[in-house]
Amino acid sequence: MVCERPSGAERKPDLKSMATAVTHAFFSLVLGKTFAREEMPWRFWIFAIGCSILPDVDVIGFSLGMPYGGIFGHRGFFHSLLFAFLVSMSIIFWGFKGDSKFFNPRWGLFFFLLTSAHGVLDALTNGGWGVAFFSPFDTTRYFFPWRPLKVSPIGLAGFFSPWGREVILREMIWIWTPSVLLLTVVRGGQRIFFKGS
Ligand SMILES: [Zn+2]
Repeated sequence: MVCERPSGAERKPDLKSMATAVTHAFFSLVLGKTFAREEMPWRFWIFAIGCSILPDVDVIGFSLGMPYGGIFGHRGFFHSLLFAFLVSMSIIFWGFKGDSKFFNPRWGLFFFLLTSAHGVLDALTNGGWGVAFFSPFDTTRYFFPWRPLKVSPIGLAGFFSPWGREVILREMIWIWTPSVLLLTVVRGGQRIFFKGS
């Protein structure tokens, strides 16, 4: 992974440094379908989509004057693996309180993977700062050396601009297509190995 350590000079906040919420949500649906072999309650899907976009709650910090490179800055602690773990545990223990079906390591792993996947997708974009995967223990910002995703424009006008179209096109190629292929392979495997179960 390529490191990008925040310097003392804070850059102007760059709200465009994220994969699109549409792609994060799409990934949550595909991963949910991959994990779940049975019909899932609506609450499950709300939590799944919520997990996939929750890390970007840190953009609120910009309006509160928090520095981009700070621990709670954009792509900081809220994009970390520890935050993903805390979110997954909260959902299992409180979100599905009293529902024994979800009191299961499988669903804990699912919500952890889903929340941490947000940071992974962001680390594949070509703009903004890297992701503090190991915050608060190590606040280094990381990017992957290969970053095929283009940073997303803000606002509906930007979304429907040529730039927005290129963003979505790249996300369809590099995220949507492999995700659907993964789902197809897993579903095919389930049909073979769990036939009759
Ligand atoms: Zn993000």
